[in-house]
Amino acid sequence: MDIKSLVKPNVRSLNAYEAKEIPCKVKLDANESPYGFRNAIKAADKILTNRYPDPEAKALRGLIAKKFKVKPENLLFGNGSDELIYYLITTFGGPVLYPTPTFSMYGIISQALGERKVEIPLDREFDLDIEKMLGAIKKFKPRLIFISSPNNPTGNCFSSEKILKILSLVTRHSSLVVVDEAYQPFASEEGFLPMLKDYKNLIILRTLSKIGLAGLRVGFMIADEEIINEANKVRLPFNINSLSQAVAAEALKHRKAMDSYIKAVASERERLFDELSKINGTTPYPTEANFILFKTENPDRIYSRLLKKGVLVRNLNSLVKGCLRVTVGTPEENREFLNAIRKCLKKEN
Ligand code: PMP
Repeated sequence: MDIKSLVKPNVRSLNAYEAKEIPCKVKLDANESPYGFRNAIKAADKILTNRYPDPEAKALRGLIAKKFKVKPENLLFGNGSDELIYYLITTFGGPVLYPTPTFSMYGIISQALGERKVEIPLDREFDLDIEKMLGAIKKFKPRLIFISSPNNPTGNCFSSEKILKILSLVTRHSSLVVVDEAYQPFASEEGFLPMLKDYKNLIILRTLSKIGLAGLRVGFMIADEEIINEANKVRLPFNINSLSQAVAAEALKHRKAMDSYIKAVASERERLFDELSKINGTTPYPTEANFILFKTENPDRIYSRLLKKGVLVRNLNSLVKGCLRVTVGTPEENREFLNAIRKCLKKEN
């Protein structure tokens, strides 16, 4: 039997998101935090394994609402923010517009759901090409616009004036603008949360994955209650499991530790950036996230050589020509990465 012929054409031509477990000593490929919250796991002691989780994640919802100074009704939780991207595209459909290069799931999910994608290349500085964006919005009338800021994989925040221009235009064109702030905790400027009161069509995506809780898969969106209610219709029941709810809620109580880990990562990022700038053969791009995109000669070879030395980074050569991406780790991990790449480049010359 030819299974492939049974698959919907849009899924048949889809490539699965690459998330392989690659054995290594220093793992700097997935933009995770090097600092976890193992002590929060004790909160899982109280959960009942025979009962379904709280479908509304009330305790966690309350804590997040308080942290972000929003009403609990303005929140929708997902099994990672990936799931919320799925829910948004399922609820509102396409065309789905986003700049490229960016987080690949906007495109993968659009295609999986058979929705049209409109991809607008970023400008030379990796900022939004505002003329092209505005033109494409007028032409294609997208239902959803995804803007990852700070952007993965380039690391920079887009100019907020440009995002505001888009928001102002789409108010007239009935599009929703999703500002994906997965990396906002590491950025120097405030994100778009304060804009929610001015723009009903603005949706903010956040995640706990980059701040020490990637294993729990908890993401959330903040938006107008009407948007939340519509997207909630397609949410799978009990999408946030009991363990994740309990442990995330406990971890969020360790606010000081969480903040200090975020600060530590941001300051290590500066050091790592400086060191990479000094190395002959690597050019890092300015970043506001917990990772650094850098250009190097022969990225495929450098990637493999680094891996041979036990250091795993992300090879982005096919997406951003000549580039690798390294996640900021502990000072020790960053040192190991720097030593390894220096050696790999020496071999090159
Ligand atoms: N948005 C962006 C921009 C990301 O880089 C990622 C993770 N790579 C996500 C969303 C998804 O995060 P999660 O599903 O772990 O919440």
